[in-house]
Amino acid sequence: MDNTKLKEEILKLKEELDVTIVAHYYQKDEVFELADFSGDSLQLAQMAMEDKNPFLIFCGVGFMGESVKILSPEKRVLMPKIACCAMAKMIDGLHYDKNVKILEEAGIKKEDILPITYINSSAEVKARVGEMGGMVCTSSNAKKIITKGLNSGKKILFVPDQCLGQNIANQMGLKSCVVDDGTDPNEADIICYNGFCSVHQLFEVEDVEFYRNKYPGIKVIAHPECKPEVCDACDFVGSTSQIINYIKELDPEQKVAVGTEFNLVNRLRKRNTYVLSSTKPECPTMNETTLQDLHDTLLSIKEDRIITEIQVDTEVRKWAKVALERMFEI
Ligand code: SF4
Repeated sequence: MDNTKLKEEILKLKEELDVTIVAHYYQKDEVFELADFSGDSLQLAQMAMEDKNPFLIFCGVGFMGESVKILSPEKRVLMPKIACCAMAKMIDGLHYDKNVKILEEAGIKKEDILPITYINSSAEVKARVGEMGGMVCTSSNAKKIITKGLNSGKKILFVPDQCLGQNIANQMGLKSCVVDDGTDPNEADIICYNGFCSVHQLFEVEDVEFYRNKYPGIKVIAHPECKPEVCDACDFVGSTSQIINYIKELDPEQKVAVGTEFNLVNRLRKRNTYVLSSTKPECPTMNETTLQDLHDTLLSIKEDRIITEIQVDTEVRKWAKVALERMFEI
């Protein structure tokens, strides 16, 4: 079936079934256009909690579908492709335990560590964090959550994104380090796990310099998953929704170069907007979801032979939910 026919079939199936389709901002345009709701991972999890349909089709990456299932267990959450975010895949429960042990061996007691996990992590890691008294954060609220965590007087173990942890530490004038990077974790306020986003890592300081030289007066903005030296060279650093709002406020003639995922940047503003890298980085796992996958998922509901449904173990869900709810309380 070609894309036009597939779209027609998808819309027909959507009419017939009690189903809501949500899509993350980084999805391909043809999938994104068919969603009832779009947003970042937190916005989508919140929308899903309020949605009344029994079936939710989540076009995104695995941890996002899991977050919805953790918060709304009664919902049947289906993902057309259970693609795993490269960053979330860099840490599992065993890696997490190993990092806590390394800190203990460096003389930091477990009870003096407050873990915070970026929402881009598995349910298993969120559960470990919840069980140790910690919480989840997103790139929009990381500063607020870390501030709250530091009020406990404990050291922050920030997983899995070292860049987000370091960028927030820099913004707050705090000391940070990465576990096992050769520095003494006792000296740091925020100790980061050594994970990173394979897409946002592609932006370089040279890219910022290139655009500044080519278009004097250009604004350069980046997502905090970019390297600290890139963020330091930018005019503004913000989460996906903060980037969208920042660009909306700009004069239409103002040129802007944006260091985040290509599909999103490409959709933001048609004129005077540049992706901060000639490689135009798309998130490969986000791009795995196709119209065909979306169609097949809808058909599996109609024919009562569900595929790719998200399940979360009850014990894991209990503690992961605690970690997520602590974030919502703040
Ligand atoms: Fe994960 Fe990076 Fe893709 Fe976001 S852009 S889903 S952090 S790999």
